[in-house]
Amino acid sequence: ARHFLARARQHQALGAFLSVDEDATLAQARAQDALIAEGKGGPLAGVPIAHKDVFVTRQWPTTASAPMLDGYRSPFDATIVDNLAQAGCVTLGKLSCDEFAMGGANEHAGIAPVGFDAPQPVRNPWDATRVPGGSSGGSAAAVAAGLAPAATGSDTGGSIRQPSSLCGITGIKPTYGRASRYGMIAYASSLDQAGVMARSARDCALLLSSLCGPDIDRDSTSVDMPPEDFTRHLGEGVKGLRIGVPREFFGEGLHADVRAAIEGALKEFEKLGARLVPISLPRTDLAVPVYYVISPAEASSNLARLDGVRYGHRAKNYADLVDMYTQSRTEAFGEEVKRRIMIGTYVLSEGYYDAYYLQAQRIRRMIADDLQAAFKDCDLIAGPAAPSVAWPIGSKTDPLDTYLSDIYTLPASLAGLPGMSVPAGTGDAGLPVGLQLVANHFQEARLLAAAHQLQ
Ligand code: GLN
Repeated sequence: ARHFLARARQHQALGAFLSVDEDATLAQARAQDALIAEGKGGPLAGVPIAHKDVFVTRQWPTTASAPMLDGYRSPFDATIVDNLAQAGCVTLGKLSCDEFAMGGANEHAGIAPVGFDAPQPVRNPWDATRVPGGSSGGSAAAVAAGLAPAATGSDTGGSIRQPSSLCGITGIKPTYGRASRYGMIAYASSLDQAGVMARSARDCALLLSSLCGPDIDRDSTSVDMPPEDFTRHLGEGVKGLRIGVPREFFGEGLHADVRAAIEGALKEFEKLGARLVPISLPRTDLAVPVYYVISPAEASSNLARLDGVRYGHRAKNYADLVDMYTQSRTEAFGEEVKRRIMIGTYVLSEGYYDAYYLQAQRIRRMIADDLQAAFKDCDLIAGPAAPSVAWPIGSKTDPLDTYLSDIYTLPASLAGLPGMSVPAGTGDAGLPVGLQLVANHFQEARLLAAAHQLQ
């Protein structure tokens, strides 16, 4: 823990940490030392981990990188934080992300990182002028720079897989319902899922085994399945494994350098005995519009509770109650969050609901059906996690540009499938490229085993 705290201090300029409390971390580490000495250490006894700031923690502030929650302290720990602590993990601190996990570059962070007095974008450790991806950009940067051996992340539409790809680390989002959402600040509840980001598939498997588990009393979408040992297939090869390669993931928009790296990784799988099967996911193009109707709709509803009354920012000057809501929300929400609240409110409005929200729900089902059809012909699906390597900070000004780059991660999100990104070499400027692997529901152990073969 001391080693990682020192590294985090040394590399503050990356802007990865939003809060650290060295005394609290070292107290947890000492408690683990004592348990280990008594022979009572859990499976992850003493393993340091940092948490994305969307998971509430009692000992560290929780903001979701949102000025609305600046200074907020939760009275309880999120279930996944608690599960990892029960297994022996020691918390290093809280990590930056896009405000309320909305974004794909960590440029929408609204809270000043440790060492700064104003909000900063997180920087990619491979090239500090570039973005780390998002929304779990702080998690990806911290792991890539060795400020933490592992970090938690959340993935609603790709926020674990895409930053893992851009920072050259391994990250996994389990099946929707595997990880409890209790204490995870909601973005789009039907899509939100917690997961881990680490340096290898093995580390991810070890951590995920403790992170996941039923929480049916506190999360209505929690799946009632006993915890699983996700490391159990790691030793098995990929001989005979059918890897589906969706044609639509290699079309226009995919940068040539990323394509080359992904094709290299697929060849590696072939050499190891896997069989590549061409497949089609014909509605891939619709994943972006569908996601950007459904997720803002849910976000607009989830964020309605932040009205300046119960907790969160409250404006100083206002005329009456409605004005207080308006001023508090106007002052505290960032531009991207406001944009999504407006889109979400619009698509849920009477008269537009059928045309947008309901239609998007129907297509969401079709996308999920397409994936199930594909799994008749293959065991895993492989392709790029993102269309390009990390781009320079500030270079994408049109929000649509960032939305479109979510295209490869969204189908699995909309279908609630487990997915991961695993390093697959480098592209332009020597920057990392991630191979995305997707499996059918509850096949995380197989997914991790296949990823492990590439490492
Ligand atoms: N980039 C996507 C978005 O902006 C995904 C975010 C996420 O998974 N939290 O919504």
